[in-house]
Amino acid sequence: MGQSDLVIREVPLKWRGNLVKRPKTAYIVLHHAEASRCSVEDIHRWHQNQGWSGIGYHYLVRKDGSIWRGRPEMLVGAHCRGYNDKSVGVCAEGDYEREQMPPEQEAAIVRLVQDLLQRYPGAKVVGHRELVPTACPGRNYPLERIRKAAEVLSVFADMQGHWAQKDVEWLAREGLIKGDEQGNFNPDRPMTRAEGAVLVRRAIDYVLRRVMGHA
Ligand SMILES: [Zn+2]
Repeated sequence: MGQSDLVIREVPLKWRGNLVKRPKTAYIVLHHAEASRCSVEDIHRWHQNQGWSGIGYHYLVRKDGSIWRGRPEMLVGAHCRGYNDKSVGVCAEGDYEREQMPPEQEAAIVRLVQDLLQRYPGAKVVGHRELVPTACPGRNYPLERIRKAAEVLSVFADMQGHWAQKDVEWLAREGLIKGDEQGNFNPDRPMTRAEGAVLVRRAIDYVLRRVMGHA
């Protein structure tokens, strides 16, 4: 694992209006700023000028590879219409419709997305344009390369390539199962009667909530 060495830089930002906690995280959406040079403060100001609470992305990765916090990660962002309540938004400084991404920046985006996937196992890594009609993150953005590199370390360390990987990822994303403190799932460890009971209870709650619409 060992992604906790990721350095996230922060600047104080003043927010307008109310910010809401995000109920789930099914997508990590990749964007470009469509601006060759910009800071978190710049984007925060631009987005407030559009009438938003503040910067709509959760992270900005700059060309030098530094990673900056935008909107706090657990809150609903403003970066992808129709998906803000279920996604984290990662923006790259630059205009990748016409520029080429520096390797430091690409590597930093990969590390950040890997880190996010540890916390949101099974979340899909997508470019903005794959969800809504837009050119973002630009034709030169190395979307496939970043996605492939990030997903190598995506889920529980010990489920990579396991025959049950997809099912385990789905259950984890939906909150029905969890891994251990080290980020492992321990797929071959037997389940106790207590763990079995908890899983059945969570599954029934899930069905009532999601399928039947109960609180
Ligand atoms: Zn975008």
